[in-house]
Amino acid sequence: MINILFSARAAQWPVYRAPLEAAFAAKGLKVNLTDRTDAPETVDYLVYAPAREDDDLSVYTNLKLIQSLWAGPDKLLKNKTLTQPMARMVDPGMTQGMVDYVFGHIMRHHLEVDRFSNAKPGAWLTDWAPPLPADRTVAILGIGALGMACAKVAHGYGFNVIGWSRTQKEGAPFPCYAGVEGLEQTLAQADIIVTLLPNTPATEGLINKETIAQMKDGAAIINPGRGQLIDDDALLAALNSSKISGATLDVFHTEPLPAEHPYWHHPNVLVTPHVASETRATTAADIVAENIARVEEGKEALYLIDPTLKY
Ligand code: NDP
Repeated sequence: MINILFSARAAQWPVYRAPLEAAFAAKGLKVNLTDRTDAPETVDYLVYAPAREDDDLSVYTNLKLIQSLWAGPDKLLKNKTLTQPMARMVDPGMTQGMVDYVFGHIMRHHLEVDRFSNAKPGAWLTDWAPPLPADRTVAILGIGALGMACAKVAHGYGFNVIGWSRTQKEGAPFPCYAGVEGLEQTLAQADIIVTLLPNTPATEGLINKETIAQMKDGAAIINPGRGQLIDDDALLAALNSSKISGATLDVFHTEPLPAEHPYWHHPNVLVTPHVASETRATTAADIVAENIARVEEGKEALYLIDPTLKY
C-alpha cells in the first residue's frame, strides 16, 4: 500500500479527492490517500500546495517525492525544512488556461484595444488598421512547458514568434535565442513581449531600465510569470514616456497588489489578480498518478525541480 498525503487548502481536498482516486485506480496503484495523518513518517508521497509557508517538511522522514500542485517552485523553495526531491506541476489543463490568457492578451495588444478603451467619447478613430500578425513580432521569454505552448499557438495563428530561454532550443518551429547574449537580440525585435519565466536569482529584475532600453519603442509587455521579473519603477517610467505602449500584468512583487499602486491607475496597464491560469484537478490528477507510478517503478520523476537552478 502506498501512503499518499494530500496537503493543501481545505477547500481543495473535495475538488481533488475523486480525480486523484480515479487516476490512481487507472494506473493500478494501490494507495491509501488521505488529507491528514498522525504518522508523518509513514507518508510515501506528499501531494502539495501549501496552505501555510512555514510547514515543517522535516517530519516526513521517508518521503519518496513531493509532488507540487503548482507550476512555479519559488515559494516552495523558500521552505528551509525542504530536503526531499520535489516535482513541479506540468498540467495540460493549466497549460490550456495559460495559452488562453496569453493569446487573448497578445490579441488585445495586437488590436491596440487601449487606443479605443481610453478614447474620449465621440472620438471616431478610423485612421488605423493593425498590421498583419506576420508583421508583429511576439517574443516569449521562457520557452518552457507554458511558454512553448503559448508560442506554438501564436506562431500557428501567424504571428512572427521568437523565443528566449536559458538553454538553446532546437527544433522549434520559430527562431529561438538563449542566454544573456541572446536576450538583447530577442528584445530588439519584439513588438509584444511575454514573460513566462520562473522567479529565480537569475531572472529577478530581468525587465529593468537597461533591458527596456533595448526594446523597440512602443513595445507591449504581458507578464504572467512572476512580479519579481520586473523592476516596477523602470516599467512605470517607460509607460509614462510611451517607450512601452502598454502592459498586462498578472503577478506582482506584493500580492494582492495594494490599491494605491500606480499600476492600478495607469491607463495603459491592465492588472489581473494572479489568475492567468491554475492547476485543474481533473487533468493534474493524471500527472500526479503518472509521477508516483514512475517512482514506484524505480524511474526518475518527471519535472523534478533542480535545487541549484531553483526551477
Ligand atoms: P518551465 O520550468 O517549464 O519553463 C521555464 C522557462 O524559463 C524555461 O524555458 C527556462 O529555460 C527559462 N528560464 C529559466 N531561467 C532562465 C534564465 N535565467 N534565463 C533564460 N531563461 C530562463 O516553467 P513553466 O513554463 O511551467 O512555468 C513558468 C512560470 O510561469 C512558473 O515558474 C511561474 O512563475 C509562472 N506561472 C504563473 C501562473 C499564473 O497564473 N500567473 C500559473 C503557472 C505558472 P530552459 O528551457 O533553458 O530551462
